[in-house]
Amino acid sequence: MTAKTLPLAPKLVQSDDALEQETIERWMKLDEQELMSISHIKRFTEYYEADPEFRKNVAIAPEQTVAQYNLKIPLAEIRWLWDAEFVKSQQSQDIPFPIALQRFIDYEEARERYFFRWRNNMPDSDPRFQAWRDRQIARGDSEIRKSHNAQILHAPVAFELTKGCSVGCSFCGISAPRFSDIFTYTAENAQLWREVLEVIKEICGPAAGTGFCYWATDPLDNPDYEQFVSDFHAILGAIPQMTTAQPMKYPARVRSLLKFSDSQGFSYHRFSILSLKILQNVYAEFSPEDLIRVGLVMQNKESLMNKAVAGRSWEKQKKAGEASDELAQSTIACVTGFLFNMVERSVKLISPCKADDRWPNGYRVYDRGNFETANDLKVLLERMITQQMPLEIRAEENLRFRRDLKHENLDDGFKLSTRFLTLKFRHRPLIKELGEAILKGDKTAAEIVANFEKLGVNATETYYSLNLMFNRGVLDDEPQPG
Ligand code: SF4
Repeated sequence: MTAKTLPLAPKLVQSDDALEQETIERWMKLDEQELMSISHIKRFTEYYEADPEFRKNVAIAPEQTVAQYNLKIPLAEIRWLWDAEFVKSQQSQDIPFPIALQRFIDYEEARERYFFRWRNNMPDSDPRFQAWRDRQIARGDSEIRKSHNAQILHAPVAFELTKGCSVGCSFCGISAPRFSDIFTYTAENAQLWREVLEVIKEICGPAAGTGFCYWATDPLDNPDYEQFVSDFHAILGAIPQMTTAQPMKYPARVRSLLKFSDSQGFSYHRFSILSLKILQNVYAEFSPEDLIRVGLVMQNKESLMNKAVAGRSWEKQKKAGEASDELAQSTIACVTGFLFNMVERSVKLISPCKADDRWPNGYRVYDRGNFETANDLKVLLERMITQQMPLEIRAEENLRFRRDLKHENLDDGFKLSTRFLTLKFRHRPLIKELGEAILKGDKTAAEIVANFEKLGVNATETYYSLNLMFNRGVLDDEPQPG
């Protein structure tokens, strides 16, 4: 094939060692005053998001409310934290944020940058995997909305260390099955685990460290979770981000995990808060300072957080015949890569998508397989990469646009749109006709190229245009049923 491979999609966030170092050093070494200020502002924003009573009271009597909730925030700063109109008016007069609030914003931004440090650039990874991941991320911009997609980590790997989840949330966005089995840290399992991590490191490079050890599972359901984490850190150089809905079932474990985590560098974890009662208990157990590096995901029904319509939520809405809000967040999936279940010794190649009849859990499954040993796994992953991740259009591939895209001709080309994004393809030889040929969906790349050669466009030009579309994620690569 003579197709020219295009540069990959633009990078949104670059991995940057200096930035990483700066983040670690700056935000791990907060003095007492900074720690108090950031963590109390953080807790204020959490209360505000979760609790309608707090929202009401703070608007009526801000000073008394923060005192009642034991938040140490000066009166002059409180209004900046909740009154959007006030903030707008201050900004229109060029009045800067109070110093403490600016510091909180800087902390949050640095945390986000750190968390996303390898989202768009995976140094030392397999270039086929990187290119495939870039195409999936590009698809997400138009399929699930750019602003929502930008918040998805697209982690290259996740590991389930149990079968199912004991929490059983009625809204579970990935329909976690009932908890039924544990991958325990036996000598044999531990050895396999370490070897699996080595295999993944080879494919994903250091970005494997942004992977995590849960999915449709709660990490703390595995009593040996901490030992797996310790190996993960030793091999992949990072503490895996933990999200648990059970901080109050295992407060001592959580404390010791946070301590270990902090001793190894910068990392961030999350508690899923299922009710206001749980929030109160968490706040009684953990001070604002304790949770400086723990985000609270407010899943309680009173929360202002937009809840995703995927998995069990999506099934519920569908059953109730409720019109689904097309603008609602449509997936909670955040892995574009390999999803392992270590109990089953299985691995799937997945990527987030809008939840629908075909993919109710908000992610596509491109491939799947089982392994017994690390060598099996190597063979399996190489097979997946070879089959699923071509670097460029394959000549024998039947070409069509994704089913969610609307095609329209332009004078000098064509455009493809979803309600979130329009992509225009113009200024290429016979590009309008090329769009029409793909729209028909009945020809392979080689056939299309041959037809356009007869019209005077050489093969290199046509492959270039096709790869342009390929890399923008508009060509259909959806796995077929079965
Ligand atoms: S949302 Fe999380 S904690 Fe709840 S059932 Fe699903 S995986 Fe388990």
